[in-house]
Amino acid sequence: MSTSAVPLKVLFVTSEIFPLVKTGGLADVSAALPAALRALGADVRVLLPAYPALLKGTAVKWVAAHGLFEFGEVRVLSANLPGDVPALLVDYPPLYQREGGPYQDRHGHDWHDNALRFGLLSRVAALLASGQSPLSWRPDVLHCNDWQAGLAPAHLHYLPGPKAVTVMTVHNLAYQGVFPLDTALKLGLPPASLGMDGVEYYGEMSFLKAGLHYADQITTVSPTYAEEIQTDHLGFGMQGLLRQRKARLAGILNGIDCHAWNPEADPHLAAPYGLKDLKAKGENKRALQERMGLEVDPKVPLLAVISRLTHQKGQDLILAAARELLAMPAQLVLLGSGDKHLEQAFLGLASAHPGQVAAHIGYNEGLAHLAEAGADIFLMPSRFEPCGLNQMYSMHYGTPPVVFATGGLADTVVDCTPATLAAGTATGFVFDAMSEEAFLAAARRAVTAFQDKKTWKQLQENGMKADFSWEHSGARYLDLYRRLLAEQER
Ligand code: ADP
Repeated sequence: MSTSAVPLKVLFVTSEIFPLVKTGGLADVSAALPAALRALGADVRVLLPAYPALLKGTAVKWVAAHGLFEFGEVRVLSANLPGDVPALLVDYPPLYQREGGPYQDRHGHDWHDNALRFGLLSRVAALLASGQSPLSWRPDVLHCNDWQAGLAPAHLHYLPGPKAVTVMTVHNLAYQGVFPLDTALKLGLPPASLGMDGVEYYGEMSFLKAGLHYADQITTVSPTYAEEIQTDHLGFGMQGLLRQRKARLAGILNGIDCHAWNPEADPHLAAPYGLKDLKAKGENKRALQERMGLEVDPKVPLLAVISRLTHQKGQDLILAAARELLAMPAQLVLLGSGDKHLEQAFLGLASAHPGQVAAHIGYNEGLAHLAEAGADIFLMPSRFEPCGLNQMYSMHYGTPPVVFATGGLADTVVDCTPATLAAGTATGFVFDAMSEEAFLAAARRAVTAFQDKKTWKQLQENGMKADFSWEHSGARYLDLYRRLLAEQER
């Protein structure tokens, strides 16, 4: 089953996928990691709910139907989504056929039946990974992502017969899928699962806790975050369990999709550029300044933020430091949405500084690409960051980032010092105290370095040369799958 001659079969369970359903980095990972695993020879399929966005314009084929407790008949469809990875969709119109986001309605309220929506996804995932699967294709590995797939390892644990090994990947521990305890029974789990040694979480149940408890292996998306989530500071209540399962916890860095994010062939840019013709990056700066209504000036450092607006991402530091930042002088572009107070604050800053600050509230993939290319410096002062993609996009686009030393930011950005410059490894600016002063000092170092053409070019080149591709991470996941299968066979 797991010998190298036969491709290893992996079912990758996720609640979002780029480009059709995306709220954050999980969507990018769900498109890129399965593709990387396929390129390495694994037979991977992704499993998602049949959201309207996935059915629209997609050729789907009915492959199975199964009666599942109070849901009645649930259909499994096969679908050809963009990219080469075959998809399986859980089709159950009462739960998934509605306009809005995967987790929230158009007004930003969580769907009232999220427990059912993702309970069903998890349940079907477990079924397909068990001997009771209605499909002839049965995975060797069930790879579950975030809380939405967290109940799958629990369900699979209680199913009889042969079954896949399970991996639970935490992309962000802050989202835990917490519901009243009896929800577990409604979702088809047995009473034996209700204890502390099961799905129970401080008197309620948590999808994520279930996954962390029952999965054969836990992974998270950077080595530093794997350490941080075992601490009281960043464990979000799961630190005890994670410490207990430490031997089963690994950190594997995410990669970036170097096809979608390639400055040499990015359709969203005003001008393509690469290591050899960095000058053309300037045309993107001009295009960004024009598009955002900023004063067109090639010399002023242009700082960019592209992000969900939330406490986690530390944008309050940028707001607090805005006066000093702008006095450097510098321009600021923000693209983001989320917390209404932060949205208002950035809009207010933009109207107070026309031509110097611009804020686009909303989600805009094309503008995100242009901003990565057109900005000089990227700001990402996240309080915690499991891996983070934007800092890698920015380094890849020759836009050195300013980051807080946490999680994947600490693992991917090398602080610019005389020593790292001499070693040719410096790629950005890292600050290690979560304070306005420390952030401002790092931003100041970045702006000063920007004025020094030679240093700046070297920083840009180091970042652009760094290998952030998925190939390396994909190989690490494959090793892990093989190890788990070897253990299972023993
Ligand atoms: P997270 O998953 O916590 O939101 P990441 O840095 O891992 O953070 O990934 C964020 C992804 O979402 C990146 O691909 C980024 O470009 C994108 N993104 C975030 N906000 C916006 C926005 N307003 N418009 C376009 N893309 C955005």
